[in-house]
Amino acid sequence: MSGTTDGTLSEFELIRRYFSGRDRGLGIALGLGDDCALLAPRPGHHVAVSVDTMVLDTHFFADQPAAAVGHKALAAALSDLAAMGAEPMGVLLAVTLPEVDEDWLREFAEGMGELADRLRVPLIGGDTTRGPLAISVTVLGQAPSGSALRRSAARPGDLVVVSGALGGAFAGLQAELERREAGREPPLTEDPVCQRFFRPEPRLALGKVLRGRTRTAIDVSDGLLADLAHVCEASDCGAVLQADALPHDPLLAEWTPGAALAAVLSGGDDYELLFAWSARQRDELRPLASALQLPLTVIGEFTAGSGVQVLDAGGSPVLPAERGFDHFGRG
Ligand code: ADP
Ligand code: MG
Repeated sequence: MSGTTDGTLSEFELIRRYFSGRDRGLGIALGLGDDCALLAPRPGHHVAVSVDTMVLDTHFFADQPAAAVGHKALAAALSDLAAMGAEPMGVLLAVTLPEVDEDWLREFAEGMGELADRLRVPLIGGDTTRGPLAISVTVLGQAPSGSALRRSAARPGDLVVVSGALGGAFAGLQAELERREAGREPPLTEDPVCQRFFRPEPRLALGKVLRGRTRTAIDVSDGLLADLAHVCEASDCGAVLQADALPHDPLLAEWTPGAALAAVLSGGDDYELLFAWSARQRDELRPLASALQLPLTVIGEFTAGSGVQVLDAGGSPVLPAERGFDHFGRG
């Protein structure tokens, strides 16, 4: 640890108590406890690596139950593996804590551990430091060499497909923000209305089956328009979406049509997968969706040119209210 914890609990004891014992898994030659973990990826595979950081007040609330913070930190990081079609091998957890609050730590570890156990993702190491509360999760995965899903392989004529429904996380965030504004208790962390925001589900099973069936995917973390724009830029093409085809989360049912559309296009944090799909394979989507028990919806197609357009039923462009969330842009 850089700096020391207080006298009540040593760093070593803290790690042992809350973060050890979940470090076994396929491909883990050595888990937590040494200077490094050792990985043994399957022959002929690439290792996929990514890191995601959640900072207090930017990504979570000070009074947000720690279990939800733990869940979301891991889910968001694993979503990047899903978007590459990589199977998780293990995760590293860096926690920066202002002080050792054992209740918070226990809940946090339980929230993260529950998801890690369910998805069989070992926690193979990390770092523990003192400072402003922040959580950083590094994920390691593997995929057969050459098969990882990239942003850069969409072609004009490919269908644009999205999993699940969109706008639900944004609706949950709005409900929680309204509650806070009105000073009502308790927090909605456990309320069904907010689960899409507080407990997103990384689409790992989908990512894995997409591998070999398409070459292009991204996870929708910043918002549909923003993330689709990333794919278009990387693939050097454009896209046209049909507003009527967009899968709205049921939580938006009572929103005005304009507000619901804005939530679907620009609300972030849904962690669904967006992917390119050859038009010739269109009939294969339905059986895939039922096998995965996850809706897969064709929402438009990639085009020659650049930029993303959204058309209404009459074929007229719908002006996007906003793009996705950008920490260094206008937000
Ligand atoms: P070092 O000083 O060599 O970096 P540490 O004392 O920081 O090692 O960590 C000891 C062991 O505990 C290492 O295997 C490290 O990966 C693991 N570890 C430290 N913090 C965490 C954490 N928050 N979660 C999981 N493992 C951790
Ligand atoms: Mg260390």
